[in-house]
Amino acid sequence: MNVFVSVDMEGVSGLVRWADVASSGIDFERNRVLMTEDANAAVQGAFAAGAHSVVVEENHGVEDLCVLRMDLIDPRCEVIRGAGRGGSTTMAGLTGEIDIVMLIGHHARAGSKPGIMAHTVSGAFKTVRVNGMLAGEPMLFALRAGELGVPVGLVTGDQVVAEETRELVADIDAVVVKHAYANFAARCIPPQRATPMIRAAAEQTVQRARGGGYRALTDAARPYEIEVELWQAAGEGLRANLEAMAEFELEGETTVRTVAPDMDIGFRRIAYLGYGDRAGLTKY
Ligand SMILES: [Zn+2]
Repeated sequence: MNVFVSVDMEGVSGLVRWADVASSGIDFERNRVLMTEDANAAVQGAFAAGAHSVVVEENHGVEDLCVLRMDLIDPRCEVIRGAGRGGSTTMAGLTGEIDIVMLIGHHARAGSKPGIMAHTVSGAFKTVRVNGMLAGEPMLFALRAGELGVPVGLVTGDQVVAEETRELVADIDAVVVKHAYANFAARCIPPQRATPMIRAAAEQTVQRARGGGYRALTDAARPYEIEVELWQAAGEGLRANLEAMAEFELEGETTVRTVAPDMDIGFRRIAYLGYGDRAGLTKY
């Protein structure tokens, strides 16, 4: 079994606010360790279930996507990190060779209330929709994995990301490490107790995947109709860039539409809308 683990930070046990997951935050260095420990729990569980390889990919956007503590990560896995990976923004390790995907430390989608640090890809997006459905990052991963025939088996984070991911992937397992009361308040299971829960669930997930217990999301309608609603009117730079690219359509001041053949390109286009304000930047 080849296992792909996407690790984000907002859904890591114990973390509830932006100051917990930003490099300027007071507890960031400590919280990098907590993120690494949640990732390690998944890696350990996967290997305990006999995984052949585990690729861990960083999905948290601060500090050029280099947040995991490489000195503390389980040495049996490999880690994909850094910006500019090519291909899907943070899914470079998700290929057809993978047998099962696990989403560790993930978070609720943009617009969710409650939902710890709910957003989709960028804080500049009010909502992201794919084929008319509100989309979070787990949906983008599940759709891309489905294109490759790969199922998603486990998500960890708060109860909201667990529920939202289940809407699309009914048979997914979830570890709820905190119960969100709002976007920045939760009742948390302390990491010392949460990480063994993640480890046990990851082990079960890989065992279940070996027995063919998960179904890949292969029946989503394609091409995808993607709609991103921005919080603020598109700035001059972004507007000019979008006009130069036929694949994007700006509707009104805040809504951008694009039709993407797959979620490799779709994810890149969504991410681009978060950083495409720089004059002349028309690559993504
Ligand atoms: Zn993140």
